[in-house]
Amino acid sequence: MVGAGTMGNGIAHVFAQAGWDTALVDVAPDALSRALKTIQANIERLVKKGVGSKEQGAEALGRIRTGTSVDAVRDADFVVEAASEDAKIKLALFRELDRAAPPAAILASNTSSISITALAAATKRPAQVIGMHFMNPVPVMQLVEVVRGLETAEETTRRTLEIARALGKTPVEVNDAPGFVSNRVLMPMINEAIFCVMEGVATPEAVDTVMKLGLGHPLGPLALADLIGLDTCLAILEVLHHDLGDDKYRPAPLLRKLVAAGRLGRKSGQGFYGYRD
Ligand code: NAD
Repeated sequence: MVGAGTMGNGIAHVFAQAGWDTALVDVAPDALSRALKTIQANIERLVKKGVGSKEQGAEALGRIRTGTSVDAVRDADFVVEAASEDAKIKLALFRELDRAAPPAAILASNTSSISITALAAATKRPAQVIGMHFMNPVPVMQLVEVVRGLETAEETTRRTLEIARALGKTPVEVNDAPGFVSNRVLMPMINEAIFCVMEGVATPEAVDTVMKLGLGHPLGPLALADLIGLDTCLAILEVLHHDLGDDKYRPAPLLRKLVAAGRLGRKSGQGFYGYRD
């Protein structure tokens, strides 16, 4: 598991819970210690809810080792990358992972929008590269979007679908395209909600209440943007805008402003809403 942020800790958690020995790698040592704390807290919460026993939780935690070098993937069968949503970082990482992982290993990316075909082309094993797009929060959400790049082999897809099911998830197969299905549909809605706030149509609370009570969404689009991370939302919108070449995906200037101010949502303690911890 490469990248130990919002998604990486959740993905490491579900793999370890399903019995996989999991190496969790991040360039930032503090991200690793935060991730272990989050995984422990989430396991305790699940045990309280009756999902698994205390012993099973401790066993799962014991299967996760952490480190700052990608060399940790040298014995891996399956690698999931969930580093920051930045094409330069991911392309460099895929080149490194291709060098470090065993030749038979599958390299999966949790990217929300970056081309799987382009990540595959950075490696010498394009047939073994695939998108495995988990939803946030990973231990709770059912869906995994399994994204086939242009060169992804049938066997890679079959194995990834099988692993997703073994993790207790429901995989859906889609083809590689900017934002795949989930973010192609979700991000324009979040962006439009931000334009509503920016243009003074309504407050964040009012926008979210309309969408929750009026359309049955469990979380309003702005609370969801805070959960995803406003920097991640901006990065995804940039990819949609650039790669599809359509101004309907133009990121709202208010989103740029919040990201520039370091208001990234829950992970920084402040986004459209304030968070205490
Ligand atoms: P995040 O900012 O919380 O975490 C990213 C982590 O990657 C950080 O800890 C950072 O230190 C680490 N990192 C950066 N460069 C690295 C490198 N070269 N090697 C190892 N680690 C590196 O981001 P996140 O929200 O967890 O998103 C991670 C990926 O998951 C992105 O591709 C994002 O689009 C995708 N995703 C996010 C969500 C969401 O709701 N946040 C949902 C689905 C998919």
